[in-house]
Amino acid sequence: MAENAEKNAKNKVENVIIIGGGPAGYTAALYTARANLEPLVFEGFQWGGQLQNTTEVENYPGYPDGIMGPEMMAQFRAQAERFGTRFVTDDVDRVELSDGGVQKVFLGDEEHRAKTIILAMGAEPKRLGVPGEMELGGRGVSTCGVCDGAFFKDQRVIVVGGGDSAMEDSIFISKYASQLTVLNRRDEFRASKIMLDRTREKDNIDFKTPYVPLEFVGGESGKLEKVRVRHAETGVEEEIETDGAFVAIGHIPKSEIVQGQVETDEDGYIVTEPGSTRTNLAGVMAVGDVVDHTYRQAITAAGTGCMGALDAERYLRDAAPPVEAHWMPGGEPAEIATGSG
Ligand code: NDP
Repeated sequence: MAENAEKNAKNKVENVIIIGGGPAGYTAALYTARANLEPLVFEGFQWGGQLQNTTEVENYPGYPDGIMGPEMMAQFRAQAERFGTRFVTDDVDRVELSDGGVQKVFLGDEEHRAKTIILAMGAEPKRLGVPGEMELGGRGVSTCGVCDGAFFKDQRVIVVGGGDSAMEDSIFISKYASQLTVLNRRDEFRASKIMLDRTREKDNIDFKTPYVPLEFVGGESGKLEKVRVRHAETGVEEEIETDGAFVAIGHIPKSEIVQGQVETDEDGYIVTEPGSTRTNLAGVMAVGDVVDHTYRQAITAAGTGCMGALDAERYLRDAAPPVEAHWMPGGEPAEIATGSG
């Protein structure tokens, strides 16, 4: 009897597995849990996503006084847990995605199966990898203009990068900053002409090229005071005094574990059908920053997390259960988790 119970537990096919413990993953968990789908979330060892490294969040609706990023994530998590979400606080090693079959997730040799999977692994900002960059995070150095620009009202700011993200951040932050310098490592810019032109039109923005940041230097207050830079051609170093520095050199989607299995674009973002979270594989949804080139906000990630949950619920309602969800190889019956659909 005990042996059978163990076998059944092993063969259990979940309704939905969610990979990712940021706003997208937790929102998908909340919605699927409330739909009685009993989601299993692999939230990662460092759950909370990018908000775990964020200080004050002032642009998430519903928090009129602002909230610290990690606290907000703890609340998202608790809300999903309240409706029965189960969490595995570990990083997934490997997945085997299927087109309409059973989706498999591996932690070492431990295998978990599901009829649907919601990929919500997020993205991370690219870093320069120079001294002071991480240490002064939240104390003058940031990777998110939209999140932190307003903290630099009437102050001096440097934006590092020459792509569209750097231009967009610069235009946004220039509404607050007294003076803003775009620091690019080349004289040419990767940004689109229109974004570059719009940035050039701003009276309080100037450009400093070709310069490479070498170090972010804090003062006695523990806050950023200056950036040490080097001219990319002459090698001459100098220091620029500043109150804030934004590193806007791109993002890396955390899609390694699904590369080659589900459709991704040339930058590694998972491709979904327009207006939905469905990927090219039936039963596989993707949500949040691992899909999103453009918006990358907690609120937009949460919004697509909700969409992913509804798409998963509809898939479970409409699609015939995969054969493997009934019978395991070798003839052992699998326990099917029952859903609301
Ligand atoms: P990009 O890859 O386009 O640009 C990155 C920029 O950072 C480049 O100028 C690059 O320099 C520079 N850079 C990269 N690594 C370093 C480094 N180690 N040190 C110094 N500089 C570095 O990334 P974006 O995030 O700007 O854009 C990504 C995609 O999203 C693009 O397709 C973009 O068009 C799109 N996007 C569109 C927006 C819009 O239309 N409103 C807004 C934001 C993004 P180099 O050129 O020398 O490699």
